[in-house]
Amino acid sequence: MPKVVVAGSINTDVLTTMRRAPRPGETVSGETVAFGRGGKGLNQAVAAARQGQGRGVDVAFIGRVGRDTFGDQALAFLQTNGVDTRGVARTDTATGTAIVMVDAQAENSIVVIPAANGEVAPADLDAVTLQAGDILVSQFEIPRATIADFFRRGRAVGATTILNAAPALDDAPDSLWADIDILVVNETELGHFAGVDLAGDAPVDAVAAAARRLMRRPGQTVVATLGVRGALAVTADDQVIVSGRTVKAVDTTGAGDCFVGSVAARLALGDTLPQAMRHANVAASIAVTRVGAGDAMPTGDEVLAVLA
Ligand code: ADP
Repeated sequence: MPKVVVAGSINTDVLTTMRRAPRPGETVSGETVAFGRGGKGLNQAVAAARQGQGRGVDVAFIGRVGRDTFGDQALAFLQTNGVDTRGVARTDTATGTAIVMVDAQAENSIVVIPAANGEVAPADLDAVTLQAGDILVSQFEIPRATIADFFRRGRAVGATTILNAAPALDDAPDSLWADIDILVVNETELGHFAGVDLAGDAPVDAVAAAARRLMRRPGQTVVATLGVRGALAVTADDQVIVSGRTVKAVDTTGAGDCFVGSVAARLALGDTLPQAMRHANVAASIAVTRVGAGDAMPTGDEVLAVLA
């Protein structure tokens, strides 16, 4: 059975609520604080592990955390979920942290400090042996050079590479884009990288046209996740649409991560991409009904119960 290998970020999310966020130089009294497991890498690995659990899919992680309590907790969380963490190095830099401030109007202000994630280096990739058929997954929260090397190594052995090009900050080198087999973006990221203005309810044809602009070579697939509308995949000459499910969403943090991790696990199990997308769409629709990111990922059985 092929394995899923995630090279990515691990964060502690510090979630705080307050009547209003502080202005520069000001101190305000907040109301609540909670610590969650996050980082796109961690979220996607846990999503993949929970979908693959009991079905023979191994999930291995390549990343870095600090020699601090948050690092201990993140490693324990990954291990509890069955993720192989032998590829996670400890460094003297702090574990990555996201500080989220939510005010009474539910307006978010977020500071993300990459810290140890910013040090994930190509040499760290040596920790996991890649094999033909493996599913490689990464996101833009570790250095681009490391992702490029990861995908180059993967393609050299006949693995499948999946990039979730999030967050949409800068561009990436052309060589990296060309080594992607499946690119996954949400509508904001798609608009950013395609250089087009996509409104939240852009017609599917406009989304598909923008997605095709991101292809760099024949054989690539671009998947656009469309929130409540579901997801769309385009290849050079084909198109697949998976309709969204109507659920009572309470927290959409990590929805895209759940989708990506679930697709990876299902591909490792032998699904075609359309089958994997239908499964991932259900998984992500369950995740949005729960609070949190890494903690909100459903199990494979929960998804199969809906699909049955
Ligand atoms: P991101 O979290 O990266 O912004 P999306 O908002 O596109 O990504 O969500 C990813 C996936 O999560 C969607 O393709 C869909 O399957 C699911 N999803 C997101 N929001 C909802 C929602 N409100 N209701 C049902 N499914 C949702």
